Amino acid sequence: MIVAVIFSLLLSAILYFSQISKAHSVITRTNQGVAFFIDGFFSEIINTIEALDENMEIRGAMALDTEAYQRILDRYRFISKANRNITYVYSGYENGLMLINDYTTPKKYDPATRPWYRAAMANKPETSIGMPYQDIQSKKWLVSTGKALKQSDGRYGGVVTIDCSVDQIAKLITQHDEYKTEFSFVMDRSGKIIMHPDQSVVGTSPEEMKDILQQAGNGDYSYRSANVEYFAHYSRIPSTGWTVITTIKKKEILHPIIAQVVLLIGLTSVIAVVMGFVQSTLLSRRLSRPLVELGKKIKAIIAGEKLDEGTYVYPDNEIGIMALEIGKLAAKELSEKDREIQASEEIYKTILMASPDDITITDLTGRIIMFSDAAPEMFGYTPEEGPGMSVMDFIAPEDRERAIANISRILQENYHGPNEYRAIRKDGSRFDIEVNNSLIRDQQGTPVRMVLIARDITNRKKAEQHIQELVHQLEIERDLAQRNSLTDSLTGLSNRRFFDAALLTEFSRHKRTGTSLSLIMMDVDHFKKYNDHYGHLEGDDCLRQIARTLKSVIERGTDIVARYGGEEFVAILPDSDLEGALFLAKRISEAVHELALAHATSETSEFVTISLGITSAADHLLTDAEQLVDLADQALFLAKKNGRNRYEVISASI
Ligand code: GH3
Ligand code: MG
Ligand code: MG
Repeated sequence: MIVAVIFSLLLSAILYFSQISKAHSVITRTNQGVAFFIDGFFSEIINTIEALDENMEIRGAMALDTEAYQRILDRYRFISKANRNITYVYSGYENGLMLINDYTTPKKYDPATRPWYRAAMANKPETSIGMPYQDIQSKKWLVSTGKALKQSDGRYGGVVTIDCSVDQIAKLITQHDEYKTEFSFVMDRSGKIIMHPDQSVVGTSPEEMKDILQQAGNGDYSYRSANVEYFAHYSRIPSTGWTVITTIKKKEILHPIIAQVVLLIGLTSVIAVVMGFVQSTLLSRRLSRPLVELGKKIKAIIAGEKLDEGTYVYPDNEIGIMALEIGKLAAKELSEKDREIQASEEIYKTILMASPDDITITDLTGRIIMFSDAAPEMFGYTPEEGPGMSVMDFIAPEDRERAIANISRILQENYHGPNEYRAIRKDGSRFDIEVNNSLIRDQQGTPVRMVLIARDITNRKKAEQHIQELVHQLEIERDLAQRNSLTDSLTGLSNRRFFDAALLTEFSRHKRTGTSLSLIMMDVDHFKKYNDHYGHLEGDDCLRQIARTLKSVIERGTDIVARYGGEEFVAILPDSDLEGALFLAKRISEAVHELALAHATSETSEFVTISLGITSAADHLLTDAEQLVDLADQALFLAKKNGRNRYEVISASI
């Protein structure tokens, strides 16, 4: 194609130059012909004029008689007959004499006022050639050539003129054969157009033509007029000094070149395309297609696919031979491989069918392709019903959305599961399954199938549920035991363990914040005797009633009341100073008294009474919690010693 374009461009250049040179020679030829003709034409007229000028009768006609006039007129008639181009021959004189054949001058006609007369006078002693004009009588285009006549005294007193028809010249300048735009025109010495096929420009002096006047006799000339490019040749006419210009529009030279170039490029392009097509088909048949086919064959062999020879016939060349050999080699390899595959497929099948789990193979949308032996039993469908169904048909509706999401995860993240679902049998009954997934990929690693292994986990679920229940039960019991370990089983109050821990907490808070902390230790008076008298069970009941009373009196949320041991109780009063503790002790004592539990063997009262020991840690004297218990103990001991059914105080600050 590139070669075609270069070739076309080269040819265009050659064409261009040959067309230009052809146009050049055509217009030069015309131009020279026209110039030669005009020169000859006017040379003859000028010669005739000069001959007339030399005639003494014509020169001096003003002094002659009518006989002489007749002779002159006869001569004029003879001349106009002899030369077909000559229309009129006449002479006029300053005294009004006018010598002319076949024309009667109007009255008062003064030749000296006529243009032809003036032109000749103005140009004397040279011959003057005027502008063409159209004759009213003959309608011909005429040019007047005149010469002033010298009188015997040396003055110029008349003019002899020949009007000749320039129709022939006019015809000549419009004439063209090869180029339609070709024409010639004539300029006089001053650059004024005197003959032109277009009459409207006659008399004008075109600016673009001025240069020609400066040039020598003849030559080429390019110019532009009214935005049109012209190519011209000019020649000077020796006899008149005029210039003949033959011109042609450049467009006309270039048009055939363009047409030819377009045709040429078109032709070469078509040839190039046809050749390219022929070449590529040949190449494709002999080289590319066999190579592609061979490539496919090798790819198939590598992928381990069965060779599909198809209908393609390899060409009888090196590639063809190579393809044949590779084919044979691969066929041998494949038959061995086939045997191996068959064997391994058998093994897979056996495993598949022996599995207690359902092994289902589906396409990537979950449509079943193969069911294992366990599936019908598990789901209630026959082995024939499986293929074509969706795995979603086996999943309970409430689990389907989750199952779809998990299947898309298999493809996206190679997710294997396991997932548990509620499965649904053909008869509508439900059971639990666990599903593991994996993908089967082709040689290129692209997933092609899904394998879903479903296991019936009904029994496992049951076991799991049972275990769950047991665990729950155990948890309940454990909670109970834990609660028991901190409460006293007889009274329901907090026990000694809880008290120890709570006291430690409250004591460290007291140390940290400086808030006061009080303790009341309580002991039932003569309880041994109560037991002895009323029995142990009554004793227990008595303890329970006292405990309930303590609980109701010591009602503030942060206060803690506990059974310290035996018939002894203790109260921790955080944020209570001694005053608060005393107030509470008094109320406890009264409340127990108000219970009015008869105690027949008491030495203190007829009812059951208690003794109380009070202490308070209002400052930072104490270093550990045991000291507080000690102080309360001592206060209690004091209360016993001082007669029971009373309280005593031992403050840490004392
Ligand atoms: P005091 O006035 O000096 O305190 O004399 P007391 O008899 O109350 O004191 P002592 O320590 O001699 O006797 C306490 C008795 O409390 C001894 C025991 O049998 C009785 N006791 C301790 N725990 C229980 C219990 O849980 N139930 C019953 N029913 N009696 C208990
Ligand atoms: Mg006691
Ligand atoms: Mg006691």
